[in-house]
Amino acid sequence: MSSLPKIASIGFVGVGIMGQSMAGHLLAAGYQVHVYNRTKSKTDALIAKGATWHDTPGAVAAQSDLIITMVGFPSDVEEVYFGENGIIASAKEAILVDMTTSSPSLARKIAQEAAKKGLASIDAPVSGGDIGARDAKLTIMVGGEQAVFNHVLPVLQKLGTSIILQGGPGMGQHTKMCNQIVIASTIMGVAEGLSYAKKVGLDPAQVLQSIGGGAASGFQLNVLGAKMIIGDYAPGFYVEHFIKDLKIALSEAEQMNLALPGLSLAKSLFEKMAAKGLQRNGTQGIFQIYID
Ligand code: NAP
Repeated sequence: MSSLPKIASIGFVGVGIMGQSMAGHLLAAGYQVHVYNRTKSKTDALIAKGATWHDTPGAVAAQSDLIITMVGFPSDVEEVYFGENGIIASAKEAILVDMTTSSPSLARKIAQEAAKKGLASIDAPVSGGDIGARDAKLTIMVGGEQAVFNHVLPVLQKLGTSIILQGGPGMGQHTKMCNQIVIASTIMGVAEGLSYAKKVGLDPAQVLQSIGGGAASGFQLNVLGAKMIIGDYAPGFYVEHFIKDLKIALSEAEQMNLALPGLSLAKSLFEKMAAKGLQRNGTQGIFQIYID
């Protein structure tokens, strides 16, 4: 596109666990925020703080200089961009920012279709969980053009603290896959270490006090391991979303002939959870596979 719009109004599509906090930060920063979500009631708190409701993603897009999407699955991303009353058809001189964890190929498709309409776009998936979203401390991994990244950066800085352009369209999503591959084996290790502690007669909470301060420390152990110990499986990050990510990462790896046995094993364990009806638990619920 020839010139990038001054960003005063921001559209936000998808205000679930993550989007709810993120849209709230943008409102607090003084942007006009336009919202749409499949379940309307989830926008109530944002509307009470000044956001404006619209009936479709396209209606949000038509009013916005920049449109952020934070929906669930790639099929949801397809729907809000390309479906009836979708964003691509209705956006005018806007910048599109998909922050959903989705496939790199879909990110490239959005970039191509946006460019055909003279719209700028980036893929910008995040890490840091519900806590990172709430505290505006997300890690944001971006794919797209440098000029668009520079223009959008002040908005992203309202949401996160580590914001890095990783390459062209789709490269933000590829970086997020690196993150999910690391997490996949890490959370299995956390569940295994804590189930070993239980079985051998140690106090898992006290074990966590020791190992949580050593070389094994990190979000998966210190935050999610602590939840495993008390049996708190409420979702910060849904198992069904993690399975979606593991499938995307495995499919990309297979296309490159890259063997990732830890990732394959994690996928099979999380699918075992889903088969037990536990797909709406948080990922720390993997502990149940070991202790039940
Ligand atoms: P979530 O709570 O399910 O939020 C997604 C929201 O998008 C839901 O409110 C959903 O509506 C809405 N939505 C889905 N499809 C839609 C559509 N076609 N049109 C309009 N709204 C639609 O999930 P989340 O935890 O916020 O995660 C969002 C994305 O970020 C996922 O891709 C996830 O993998 C990724 N992510 C999550 C975390 C985390 O820790 N939670 C961290 C990093 C990345 P309903 O309310 O009707 O379901």
